Amino acid sequence: MLLRDADGTMPEFAWPGGYPLIYVLADGAMLCSGCASGGSGSLASEAAEEAQWRIVGQDIHWEGEPVVCAHCSKQVPSAYGSGETDGDTNDARERKGV
Ligand SMILES: [Zn+2]
Repeated sequence: MLLRDADGTMPEFAWPGGYPLIYVLADGAMLCSGCASGGSGSLASEAAEEAQWRIVGQDIHWEGEPVVCAHCSKQVPSAYGSGETDGDTNDARERKGV
């Protein structure tokens, strides 16, 4: 069961929290919310017959490198950054209590 906005599109952010959402396809590729909702000429849906378009999961992208959308190449940044030792990441880790 995937979260959907009231208009039926796939949300870009989880609520509450505002965490970035990514969409996983049956072939293992990942999409941004726009393409998961059929944007940019995408054919993706939960009912698609082809693995390359069938959405099988919806995940919060917690941390790590940005996920690059397999369809439109948009980068979806993670909620807590790439894990590098810059100031922003350290702040994020303190917030998480790591
Ligand atoms: Zn996309």
